[in-house]
Amino acid sequence: MEPEKTQARETREFQRAVERAARWIGEFFQHPERYPVLSRVSPGDVRGRFPSSPPREGRPLADILDDFEKKIVPGVTHWNHPSFFAYFSITGSYPGILGELLSAALNVNGMLWRTSPALTELETLSLDYIRQLLDLDDAYFGQILDTASTSSLVAMAAARESLAQLDIRRLGMSGRSEVPPLTVYTSQEAHSSIDKAAIVLGVGVENVRRIPIDDRFRMQTDALADAIATDVAAGMRPLCVTATVGTTSTTSVDPVPAIADVCRRFGVWLHVDAAYAWAAAILPEKKHIFDGCRLADSIVVNPHKWLFTPIDLSVLYCRHKETLRNAFALVPEYLRSDDEQDQPNLMDYGFQLGRRFRALKLWMVLNYYGVDGIREKIRGHIRLAQGFAGWVEEHPDFEVMAPAEFSTVCFRCNPSTGAHRGKNLDDLNERVLKSVNASGQAFLSHTKIGGHVALRCAIGNIRTNQSHIDALQQLLESTASGLS
Ligand code: PLP
Repeated sequence: MEPEKTQARETREFQRAVERAARWIGEFFQHPERYPVLSRVSPGDVRGRFPSSPPREGRPLADILDDFEKKIVPGVTHWNHPSFFAYFSITGSYPGILGELLSAALNVNGMLWRTSPALTELETLSLDYIRQLLDLDDAYFGQILDTASTSSLVAMAAARESLAQLDIRRLGMSGRSEVPPLTVYTSQEAHSSIDKAAIVLGVGVENVRRIPIDDRFRMQTDALADAIATDVAAGMRPLCVTATVGTTSTTSVDPVPAIADVCRRFGVWLHVDAAYAWAAAILPEKKHIFDGCRLADSIVVNPHKWLFTPIDLSVLYCRHKETLRNAFALVPEYLRSDDEQDQPNLMDYGFQLGRRFRALKLWMVLNYYGVDGIREKIRGHIRLAQGFAGWVEEHPDFEVMAPAEFSTVCFRCNPSTGAHRGKNLDDLNERVLKSVNASGQAFLSHTKIGGHVALRCAIGNIRTNQSHIDALQQLLESTASGLS
């Protein structure tokens, strides 16, 4: 066939496939109840449905979509389901999905401004919008990265670079007697990504000081100050303090203003991990949770957690653009360009060269919902969670395990009557969890609080409404009464 005819045929086939995919997506969102939230496949099931070697000849997109629907979807745990309440519940919204599609079609790589000016400028613009929503001053330079884990790693690398006299970028750390052990401070409740960053940066997990928490799961500032003072006296060099706004287990908020004071006193970099709870700070009535964050050297927030943006999209804000640049800029001849004026070459501010057009989906989400729409949805999630927490509190067989300020509730079954009354509660709650998840009607996850199993109900999907919470409550009630 002539090349133009082949191209026209492929284009028509693609357009038909996109229409079919769009229909499938619409159906999925209209009738999520047709799918179990937690996939029911066994390990190896999905692979087993496909030939073990690659197809010799190409296949039509329609056949491939058949495979997607029949063989792949059953192996999916549906994070985009309104009854997904596990971990931190998230949303791939329509504007976000559209942004992903068009970004793949453009397939640009924004390593330099000129390799796609629209990518760089939409990224700086969208992050400027979010910065304004959070009342952060314009000294903060923002960049989009894949995950909060990467963002914290990049922030901590910048913190290491700020110890300029150690000259670590040039000389490394090993075999240098003049480089003291570096230490990182974070609470017992902080996310494991902080330890992982310490591993990658050569700090070592033993040098991550897990500062004790108070009875509301917040870092104890006095203990932080004592730990830093002790380490400094012993000849160690504090690299950074990482405070958390919205911890992973209980969504507690560290006392960032007091922590910022300690950091200022000791001259230590303050990084804030606000991966989940940051979105609440868009609400005027929750702005206070960002108090003190505006003094931080760096902050990570995840639009892919609570801003309806398909995974992955994390944002790192850093007050010290030049320090980031000093940490990472390295320009071989083949990437030299003279055109950074007021627009950055984004490759200079992190370790990755390639940069996909994630900003497009974020910009679409911000434009589609607008600030009022975003506030309404986040408020709605908090309202649903507070209603659920109220139900738990009033129920004789359930109890709340931690204060619930946002859209996540930690709770457990603690029957007021029957064989399990006050006994073997960890075992009972593990069985409740298993049974709820096996039902396919909802998916919860767990954590440990004070050494005991707690169930977590995280609300963050844009399509979750009161009917899903009512159904969860009924399911919990019937499961618990069947097991206790
Ligand atoms: N920080 C906090 C507080 C989190 O809750 C999480 C994940 O849940 C992370 C960091 C890691 O996020 P990511 O998957 O974007 O690396």
